[in-house]
Amino acid sequence: MATESDAPFTREAKFYEKLPFKKIKCKLCPRECVIDDKERGYCGVRENRGGTYYTLVHSRVVTAHIDPIEKKPFFHVLPGTVAFSIATAGCNVNCKMCQNWEISQVRPEQVRSNYVPPQQLADLARQYQCASLAYTYSEPVIFSEYVMDAAEAGHASGVKSVVVTGGYIQADPLKKLCQRVDAIKVDLKAYSEKFYKEVVNGELKPILEALVTLRQQKMWTEIVYLVIPTLNDGEPEFKGLARWVKSELGPDVPLHFSRFHPEYLLKNLPPTPLETLERAKAIADAEGLHYVYLGNVPGHPAENTYCPKCRRIVVERVGFSVGGVHIKNGKCTYCGQPIAGVWHA
Ligand code: SF4
Repeated sequence: MATESDAPFTREAKFYEKLPFKKIKCKLCPRECVIDDKERGYCGVRENRGGTYYTLVHSRVVTAHIDPIEKKPFFHVLPGTVAFSIATAGCNVNCKMCQNWEISQVRPEQVRSNYVPPQQLADLARQYQCASLAYTYSEPVIFSEYVMDAAEAGHASGVKSVVVTGGYIQADPLKKLCQRVDAIKVDLKAYSEKFYKEVVNGELKPILEALVTLRQQKMWTEIVYLVIPTLNDGEPEFKGLARWVKSELGPDVPLHFSRFHPEYLLKNLPPTPLETLERAKAIADAEGLHYVYLGNVPGHPAENTYCPKCRRIVVERVGFSVGGVHIKNGKCTYCGQPIAGVWHA
């Protein structure tokens, strides 16, 4: 049960339904938790108090860093800029490979936090010359009220907002989020329900539906797929994923295949072999995707952005550093081909 000291972080939640006997049904993510009075949902950051539902993590920042936007990764959003990156506690899934489980798998009162209201967040971003606010590390879906308010404050100060999410969210809140933010990166953790059930404690279908909603909303979207040895590294899976992305989202959605390092509950598995990542990229390239990247392999040529028409490098990268950018007014400076992305602040 939350206490007096939670007051600054407590706001009535959006996206829920009142039920008889002071119960509520949360309509934020597909879990649709039904919650009794004085109880919380699965994510542990939303509480029923007398039949009214509250978020306990508005403005409740547990970590903040200034990161290159390439680290999120966004490769087609303001390259070479930095993002003021924050998280609150909590998550609506439980991935066995989570890198940030100390903050994602706890309740807000179990970690130290600071009160950072939206305007202060926007001011900090300006002060540190960050072109964007990034909501990342844990799961922004479960602190979406804060994201929406912070994004509004950011925009008023000329700062964009980018979201890094697992995409486990219902269509209505996702559409509302799209009205406030500028880009969304979805961690698509596998292309199989089995993996989502066994490794994520979630579901694949709602994530694919969320990606289609993002496309319909014309939201700039990039996809990251963490390739985990033996669990989601089959060629049919890579092929199925690439085909689905091309047919449902189009060839211009960047797809990043990222290298796994042993973490959290998957310390028994080895890092992803480079050959597996290269095979995944070759399959996605062959399916006709325009922008297929490899992640966590600094110095690999697949970190660069290549023009899909003339094949010249239009954004040079080594790790999180950006060299030349050969894009002007959204077009390749060599051949004039449009390069999809958010290139201007
Ligand atoms: S956001 Fe939290 S409370 Fe709401 S349905 Fe999802 S897990 Fe349950």
